Amino acid sequence: MAVDSAIANKLDELVAFRRQMHQNPELQYELPETAAAVAAVLRRTGVDEIHEGLGQTGVVALVHGKNGASGRSIGLRADMDALPITEASGKPWSSRNPGKMHACGHDGHTAMLLGAAMGLAKTRDFDGTAVLIFQPAEEGGAGARAMMEDGLFQRFPVAEVYGMHNKPGLPVGEFTMAPGPIMGSVDLFEIEVEGIGGHAAQPEFARDPMPVMAALIQALQTIVSRNVDPIERAVVSVTTVHGGDAFNVIPPTVRLTGTVRTLNESVRDLIETRMGELTQGIAAAYGATGHLHYDRRYPVTINRAEQIGHAAAAAEAVVGADKVHRDMPPTMGGEDFSFMLNAVPGAYINIGNGASAGIHHPDYDFNDEAIGWGASYWMSLVRSRLPL
Ligand SMILES: [Zn+2]
Ligand SMILES: [Zn+2]
Repeated sequence: MAVDSAIANKLDELVAFRRQMHQNPELQYELPETAAAVAAVLRRTGVDEIHEGLGQTGVVALVHGKNGASGRSIGLRADMDALPITEASGKPWSSRNPGKMHACGHDGHTAMLLGAAMGLAKTRDFDGTAVLIFQPAEEGGAGARAMMEDGLFQRFPVAEVYGMHNKPGLPVGEFTMAPGPIMGSVDLFEIEVEGIGGHAAQPEFARDPMPVMAALIQALQTIVSRNVDPIERAVVSVTTVHGGDAFNVIPPTVRLTGTVRTLNESVRDLIETRMGELTQGIAAAYGATGHLHYDRRYPVTINRAEQIGHAAAAAEAVVGADKVHRDMPPTMGGEDFSFMLNAVPGAYINIGNGASAGIHHPDYDFNDEAIGWGASYWMSLVRSRLPL
C-alpha cells in the first residue's frame, strides 16, 4: 500500500494548494479565484489542453497518454464550490471569507484531481485521453448539468465517467462503494392554500386555510407510509410553514415548503402525483384552493455495477482489497453527479476522511492525508481503463 510514485514528491504542493483553496472559499458559480487557481496549476503540470468557462466557471483539462489522442477516453470529476457556513474548525488555514466555508471537502476533491493531473501528465502510461472535469455549483446549483448544457460530453466525449466524495468516519486510505442507487433524488415543493380571510371571531364568514394546512401536513405523511411500496425508501419532510400576522385575523393564505427524497425515479413520480392529489382534494374538501409547485432538482444517483467493479479494482490496486468496501449504504442526500451518470456509464465512490466532523458541519475539515490516496486511485483508474 503506497501512494503512486509519480506524485509522492508532489504531496506537499498539493496540501499547500488545498489549504490555500480552503482559506478562500467561493460559492456556487461565483468561483473566479478558485477556477483561476485550478487553471494555473493545470498549466504548470503540462496537461495537453485546458478549457475554462464551461458551466460559467467549470474547468476541463485533457491529458493524453503515450499514443496521443487515440480516441479512447475516460472522465474524472471533482467539484470546487464551498458552502454558506461560518467556519469554526480553528485550523490555521480557516476560511478568510466570512460566512463561506469548504465544509464539504470540495477543496480536497479538487486537490486530488489536480494530483492526478500532475501524475498522469508525467507518466503518460495509458492509451487515450483522461478528461479531468472541475465543476462549479455542486451544492444545490446543478453545476454538473450546467457544464453538460455547455456541451461537456459533446466537446469531450467519454466512454465512462467517475466521481468521488470524501466520507468522514471512514479511515484514511480506505474506499467504500456500492452498485445501484446510492444517493437520493432531491426535490423541493411549495404548497399554497388559499381560503378567505376575515375576523378570527367570525369564521363563518371566512374560509380559514389553517385547518386545511393542518390536515394537509398530516395527509402528506401518509404518502410514504400508505402509498409507497414498503420495500422502497422515501422521505417527505415539511420544513417551513408561513401564514398569518395577528392573533385575531384569519389569514387568506398559508404556505408551506419541504423536500422529497427517493432512491427510485418511479417512486419520485408517485410522490409528486399523490402530493398534487392531496393538495387539491383536501383543500377542496374544506372549500379552499390548493396549489402545488413541485420543483425537481437532482435525480437519483445510480452507480452501474460494471463501473463499480472497475472502480473497486482500481482502488484495490492502490490500497489492497481489505481497504476497499463494497457495501456502502445509500443515503438520502443528493449529488448532481447524478446528471452525469444519467448520460454516461460510471460510478461514484467514497474515500475515507478519517475521524473528522461530518460534512456541512462548521468544525469539518478535509483530511490532507487522503490527497495522495485519492490521486493514486484516479491514476490507477485511468491506467486500468485505458491500458496501453
Ligand atoms: Zn455538500
Ligand atoms: Zn460535497
